Amino acid sequence: MANKNIIAIDGPAGAGKGTLTKRLCEHYCFAGLDTGSLYRAITLCMIEMEHDMDNINLEFAIELTRKLSDTHKILEYAKNPQIRSQLTNKYVASVAKIPEIRDIMRQYQVDFGLNPPNLEDGRKAKGAIIEGRDIGTVICPDAPVKFFITASPETRASRRLKQYIDQGETANYQDVLASIIARDESDKNRATSPMRQADDAILIDTSLNNKEETFQFAKKVIDEKLKIVLE
Ligand code: C5P
Repeated sequence: MANKNIIAIDGPAGAGKGTLTKRLCEHYCFAGLDTGSLYRAITLCMIEMEHDMDNINLEFAIELTRKLSDTHKILEYAKNPQIRSQLTNKYVASVAKIPEIRDIMRQYQVDFGLNPPNLEDGRKAKGAIIEGRDIGTVICPDAPVKFFITASPETRASRRLKQYIDQGETANYQDVLASIIARDESDKNRATSPMRQADDAILIDTSLNNKEETFQFAKKVIDEKLKIVLE
């Protein structure tokens, strides 16, 4: 029977979606999908192929996405830490706004929700958490639990700056803030599947809550909405 325990988590870059998803997946034995990593994987592959990222050739980008997806190579790229480099960050929104690319990626995400893969330790997943920008609105509009996680651009830029420095990259706060704002604008204003809070999504502002408070709040909502038997 198709999985019905689906949690959709959307929100802008650096809001804390990944941290919350990881914690919830561990707690509930759910499989998690970071859909941003798929778009980042395609972007990284194009950069590595020295494609002119300021003038993306649509045909090339779509064909490459199809190949990466059909051969499952996309998942290998998604594991490369370089998907989080500043260069990938700069171009990922331009790749993600191409409707044909979103279309190819859509089926993978829908399938993940309906048939979540086993957990890393081999146990069967009790559900799926999918995080991104359009999960609650386009990919899983019927998900029984939806969150929209946000934080001020300044808070998100400070978090990203720390991440770059921890990765060994040089970066300055103003550039990181400008890049976050530019990506928000592109994600919010694109024609296909823009980033938007679903009408039935619960908003969490992580500038106002720490990680533990955010987790506890989300857990309370999920416990009320889903009947999950914990081992
Ligand atoms: O979540 P993350 O910051 O890793 O996402 C990287 C980029 O991928 C976003 O800025 C957005 O352009 C794109 N994305 C998207 N739809 C999703 C997830 C990510 O367009 N569901």
